[in-house]
Amino acid sequence: MQGPFRYSSVDAKKEKQASYGEFEATELYCPKCGKAVPVIKTLLLILPEGDKYEYRCRFCGTPVGEKMDRHGQYYSILKM
Ligand SMILES: [Zn+2]
Repeated sequence: MQGPFRYSSVDAKKEKQASYGEFEATELYCPKCGKAVPVIKTLLLILPEGDKYEYRCRFCGTPVGEKMDRHGQYYSILKM
C-alpha cells in the first residue's frame, strides 16, 4: 500500500489539489444504486489507534466504504 511519506514529482499535482483541506471521498460506488453516488461521512468508532469513519450512500443509505484515520495517516478500505 502506498504510504503517506511517498512523495514524488508525479504526485505533486495531487498534493496541491488536497492542500486546501483534508481530502474526502465525496463519491463512491453504490451497489444498490449501480453508480457512483454522493456519500455521507459518519464517525463510527473512536479507537486508541484511530477514528473509524463510515461512508453511506446519500440516496439509499447503503454503507459503501470505511476509512480508518490513524494519527494523521489515511487508510481506505472500500467495500464493493
Ligand atoms: Zn445507493
